Amino acid sequence: MSSNIKKIGVLTSGGDAPGMNAAVRAVVRSCSYFSIDCVAIYKGYQGLIDDQVKPMSARGVNNIINRGGTVLKTARCLEFITPEGRLKAFKTVQKHKIDALVVIGGDGSFTGAMIFQSEFNFPVIGIPGTIDNDIFGTSHTIGYDTALNTVIEAIDKIRDTAISHNRLFFVEVMGRDAGHIALNTGIGAGAEEILIPEENMGLDRLLESLKKSEKSGKSSSIVVIAEGDKTGKNVFEIAEYVEKYLPHYEVRVSVLGHIQRGGSPSCFDRVLASRMGVFAVESILNGKSNVMVGVENENMILSPLEKAIKGKSKINNDLIRVSEILSV
Ligand code: ADP
Repeated sequence: MSSNIKKIGVLTSGGDAPGMNAAVRAVVRSCSYFSIDCVAIYKGYQGLIDDQVKPMSARGVNNIINRGGTVLKTARCLEFITPEGRLKAFKTVQKHKIDALVVIGGDGSFTGAMIFQSEFNFPVIGIPGTIDNDIFGTSHTIGYDTALNTVIEAIDKIRDTAISHNRLFFVEVMGRDAGHIALNTGIGAGAEEILIPEENMGLDRLLESLKKSEKSGKSSSIVVIAEGDKTGKNVFEIAEYVEKYLPHYEVRVSVLGHIQRGGSPSCFDRVLASRMGVFAVESILNGKSNVMVGVENENMILSPLEKAIKGKSKINNDLIRVSEILSV
């Protein structure tokens, strides 16, 4: 591969996700493989502004493929939203003679990358790392599969106690705008009902459905609710509402919260992150910029960053159908 790119910078930005380290490792090692330099930028865009830049070698990323979080740290950086902040970031890039940036993050990070690219005509490429799987242009984001497995494990445990006490559990999972985690874990953990931001099931239908379950002989139930569920009520309000009408159940709420972000990445996420890291470096060396790497039907693809940000990753309607059939 012949290219003008001699040095690539890599950073992780926005919310952390398991598998980000595997992606960093893949970027660093690919640079080494193609005999170009690689530097790590710490704390996302903040590190770019504050000049927190360190050369990386293939050996510098030993033993991180299995680690959750991000060894490069991440940050939300308000200064990067201003033109002055981005100019400082560009000065750091010039100082270190960085020729292109790999940004591992979510849609906020990609928005920043896109603006930076257009202001300074600087090559950038995105790798989608977010547990929510809410990015257009890839069937899977890094961290999503691990989060699903973490949630399933937690709900399985909750089910043990729900069965023992005839309890009705409302389990809140992450997903402000996207119901992928709720829908998939709801089906995977055998939830009676699943509430997601994309569909308005309505509280009355939920109540009807739970009454039906009770009549059909279910003595305990699990309802999985995404944070951003369309009813507009939070999980505690929903539980309170249902408790009034179903006095036979002992109602409990469990908010899974940040455990969903952490932990060692699943094999799927490690492989995905490795493939995306390699493909990102190859794409930069092939002259690509302002794009995000993704996977679709097992193949690596590129999409314009703008599409990745503006497009909406859709819920699979067949999953809704399956969940309805199986909650009989
Ligand atoms: P995520 O990448 O997980 O969606 P955020 O939305 O917090 O996370 O975005 C991460 C960072 O990207 C922000 O802290 C900010 O530095 C940068 N960013 C987000 N939106 C913009 C924007 N409109 N302009 C410039 N930078 C942005």
